[in-house]
Amino acid sequence: LVELRDVQKHFGELHVLRDIDLTVTHGEVLVVIGPSGSGKSTLCRAINRLETIDSGTIEIDGKPMPAEGKELAQLRSDVGMVFQSFNLFAHKTVLENVTLGPIKVRGTKKSEAKAEAMKLLERVGVDNQANKLPAQLSGGQQQRVAIARALAMHPKVMLFDEPTSALDPEMINEVLDAMVELAKEGMTMIVVTHEMGFARKAADRVVFMADGQIVEEATPEEFFTNPQSDRAKDFLSKIL
Ligand code: ATP
Ligand code: MG
Repeated sequence: LVELRDVQKHFGELHVLRDIDLTVTHGEVLVVIGPSGSGKSTLCRAINRLETIDSGTIEIDGKPMPAEGKELAQLRSDVGMVFQSFNLFAHKTVLENVTLGPIKVRGTKKSEAKAEAMKLLERVGVDNQANKLPAQLSGGQQQRVAIARALAMHPKVMLFDEPTSALDPEMINEVLDAMVELAKEGMTMIVVTHEMGFARKAADRVVFMADGQIVEEATPEEFFTNPQSDRAKDFLSKIL
């Protein structure tokens, strides 16, 4: 479903993505972990084409991402994204945040978009916040709205870039639980996170990145109990 072949990316002198080959199949949950600066966010942003690549190919469902224009907006809606920082539209209500994309990009009727948005908000447990502004919600609630907003576009794959790292500890689980549910329902997911509990519960595969390269690829069980590379061992000793 998501296929990266020999992807290279530089920021000036810095080689941030090196020889990235990665395939994520339908319904698979991939967790990406690695030290700060290893290129995890750049990888996510490249898949969503928020970032260009120097060479190589990235295909979603067999189609390369078009460079720009309406086609890009359409295809980008196949890839849902939830970021570390809450990036809801501050001056729109929760409900408007979730309906805006479907109405504007997909041409969904307002009433239909609203009905579906309410269902999605219910699914992540924030339907009772529908008419509030984002600032009136807790961080955990905002992140769950962000998940609902991404799902409203009927994405084929969901990307999560450290969705809980800016949250207070007591709010982390409510967001992770919503993600575990999504995984159980068969959503294809790429999740950058250092939450081992989530990885063990939901991941089919863990990819460990360092210096822009994929250094290890294993099941969560294998990776956490028996990492192969010194880089991974060193990293795990610091976070576990
Ligand atoms: P973290 O765990 O801290 O989020 P990361 O693995 O997500 O790190 P990236 O954000 O992908 O890392 O960054 C990889 C490297 O690329 C870093 O050295 C970063 O400073 C650099 N970088 C990221 N974005 C840019 C940019 N727009 N211009 C120049 N350098 C950048
Ligand atoms: Mg990052």
